[in-house]
Amino acid sequence: MLIKNFEKFEKKVWLASPSMHGEEIKYVQEAYDTNWMSTVGANINEVERVAAEKVGVKYAVALSAGTASLHLSMKLAGIEAYGMPMVGHGALEGHRVFCTDMTFDATVNPVVYEGGIPVFIDTEGDTWNMDPVALEKAFEIYPEVKVVVCAHLYGTPAKVDEINKIVKAHEAILVEDAAESLGATYKGVQTGSFGEFNTISFNGNKIITGSAGGCFLTNSKEAAEKVRKWSTQAREAAAWYQHEELGYNYRMSNVIAGVVRGQFGYLEEHIAQKKAIYERYKVGLAGLPVQMNPFDAENSEPNYWLSCMIIDKEAMCPQVRGEQEVLYTPEHGKSCPTEILEAIASINAEGRPIWKPMHMQPIYRLNPFITREGNGRAVTNAYIAGGALGTDGKPLDMGSDIFNRGLCLPSDIKMTADEQDRMIEVIRACFE
Ligand SMILES: *Cc1c(COP(=O)(O)O)cnc(C)c1O
Repeated sequence: MLIKNFEKFEKKVWLASPSMHGEEIKYVQEAYDTNWMSTVGANINEVERVAAEKVGVKYAVALSAGTASLHLSMKLAGIEAYGMPMVGHGALEGHRVFCTDMTFDATVNPVVYEGGIPVFIDTEGDTWNMDPVALEKAFEIYPEVKVVVCAHLYGTPAKVDEINKIVKAHEAILVEDAAESLGATYKGVQTGSFGEFNTISFNGNKIITGSAGGCFLTNSKEAAEKVRKWSTQAREAAAWYQHEELGYNYRMSNVIAGVVRGQFGYLEEHIAQKKAIYERYKVGLAGLPVQMNPFDAENSEPNYWLSCMIIDKEAMCPQVRGEQEVLYTPEHGKSCPTEILEAIASINAEGRPIWKPMHMQPIYRLNPFITREGNGRAVTNAYIAGGALGTDGKPLDMGSDIFNRGLCLPSDIKMTADEQDRMIEVIRACFE
């Protein structure tokens, strides 16, 4: 890295912060004025209508969070595969579930809420999502598995056709986590419509936001009705509070729904702005030993939620990550994610490491991890730098390799072209 003093941004440039437009507050005001300040009202109905229409599914149920939708999806999938559990038992109790490995932990935790055992499937290099080859391998090892949960990382669609073919061949259920990919398409079809039970999120940093919230999406009327019932404490149709099933308080508030309702009209605009950011980085970083996060340009159109980059292996300076700390040695002509993130932070901007793969997380250290070669845990006992390294020092799985060499760049819609140019200059300086 060349030590230069770059001018700091006066106002912080965020990774991805909410971008409001004015309509949101009108719908919130409407909820207030009409006193629909609860989990019932016109905003909720409208969010459900628009979400289902946009994604192209028959039913949407508005919930308090994407995580709530994933939880009820895992419950539905478990019941479909294994039957209704006894009260106090999870619907996936003791059953393995194949999961995307390199993702936010909200993809995976709901499996555990229902007593399931996540089995992590390694990542492929073309889209940074679940590797269909590793998934097929996992079914060879655990042919009894009936549920697969697949995320679309950073708004880039996974290899949906290949994954779906494998899932169907094994008569399993696909749960789609489209929390990051609302508006992204695969072969012209929206993500969030491929699985049997699907999730989008309106968390504060997603492509559109309600400050919080999410939707459960499905083509099954029965599933939508179940989620609606469970999410409002599972009341039976009686004059008193009658309960036959376990309930949850997972419904979206009509106030939050007002924000989401106002944002929906700006989804395409946000995607266009995110795409422009991605392309500006791509041009600006050209010539450096780095690549942008890849996607299948022939078959998919991402929503470009976060722009990421990965450093070529030869251009990595030494970087060692422990469980909490990180060390690196600067070298001329080389860099590493830590150095670039520090440089970005030094000018008052926010980047982020790639999601640390679930198989590298201490909480999931005992869970199986499957690569193209098979058991990713058995390959080596050298658990160095948070990833399994072979005798030649190269990572043996794709996920830990991307985690080591990749990072998320500031991708905020409100970042100006000038600000982004300065960001690019700072990144370039890291390689000098
Ligand atoms: C944000 C996110 C979620 C969770 O959504 P919340 O609305 O924050 O609960 C789940 N999965 C992925 C991949 C996410 O990025």
